[in-house]
Amino acid sequence: MEKQLAEVKKLLSSPKKIVITSHRNPDGDAMGSSLGLQLFLDQFGHDTTVILPSSYPEFVAWMKGSEAILIHDDSTVESDEKINAADIIFVLDYNGLDRVDKMGEVIGALPDTIKIMIDHHLHPDDFCDYTFSDTSASSTCEMVYDFIIGMDEAAKLNIPLGECLYSGILTDTGSFKYATSSKLFRVVAGLKDMGVDDTKLQNLLFNSLPEKNLRLLGFCLNNCMEILPEYKTGIISLTKEDYEHFDIQRGDTEGIVNYLLMMRDVKLAAFITEQPTIVKISLRSKGDFSVQKIAKKHFRGGGHRNASGGASFKGLRATINKLKKLLPEYKEALNNIAD
Ligand code: 5GP
Ligand code: MN
Repeated sequence: MEKQLAEVKKLLSSPKKIVITSHRNPDGDAMGSSLGLQLFLDQFGHDTTVILPSSYPEFVAWMKGSEAILIHDDSTVESDEKINAADIIFVLDYNGLDRVDKMGEVIGALPDTIKIMIDHHLHPDDFCDYTFSDTSASSTCEMVYDFIIGMDEAAKLNIPLGECLYSGILTDTGSFKYATSSKLFRVVAGLKDMGVDDTKLQNLLFNSLPEKNLRLLGFCLNNCMEILPEYKTGIISLTKEDYEHFDIQRGDTEGIVNYLLMMRDVKLAAFITEQPTIVKISLRSKGDFSVQKIAKKHFRGGGHRNASGGASFKGLRATINKLKKLLPEYKEALNNIAD
């Protein structure tokens, strides 16, 4: 690890063309780590571009540098030119090229470009020259902080950069509810000491919702929630029509799945939504029950032990039924999770 870091430090000691990438449907951690790293690297005189497969949600649009992000879906030619011309490609908050679709094919076809992964998901694929993988980290933002400190560059931390990193930590931990460690709190203390205003970030990230989002949440809890007590499981599902009716945009459903875990007797939570071409499934769990295994085995997905996602091509009803049919297999494990 130290050797890898020393080599990367050397690589970054002269100006390079750098492309920073993160995953489709970028969340707070994908955005915060990408823009935070960019704000760090720009201080060395590198030519940096952040490229994401698809656009980002409104609640992170305030982050410094967001306006210059290239969206691969919309600016494919320009994005591919940048990727092809890069000396170094950073792979942030994702662990396999299948997480970035068409952009992954372009990156995968560049064996000579140096690739550096910084990620906290389980089971990283082996396609990078440098793989910084820490599945115990709360977020990729925590790891980018470690990366900066590990390179002995604490002096390059500043408030806009710290705001990006703190935001990814806040969103990936659900405001310090999951995946915390004593070390994370030391990182957060470091950011706060530096002058990051965490109350301002809470307001920007979590207290800025339009009315329709709260109405949507109410609808989900009142009309779309199913509890299966025998399996300690809760499911919320949304149809295409619900998406139209509530004018649901990117990011609007963020966090809804977590409400199910507010019930003591729900240990497995599923949020299943009908998208234009696929059905998307978000899974959460408590304790040592791994939703990563379920997502990987049954829904072509992955993620973390307690937070994973995947997709299905079977239609909404069939996907819900597929999940329900799996539950007997996990009944004992689900019933043995401690409160
Ligand atoms: P969410 O449920 O919030 O979309 O995602 C939860 C976690 O699962 C995130 O860490 C995300 O990267 C991962 N994840 C979500 N969807 C997929 C997927 O389709 N494939 C894989 N491999 N991981 C996913
Ligand atoms: Mn993350």
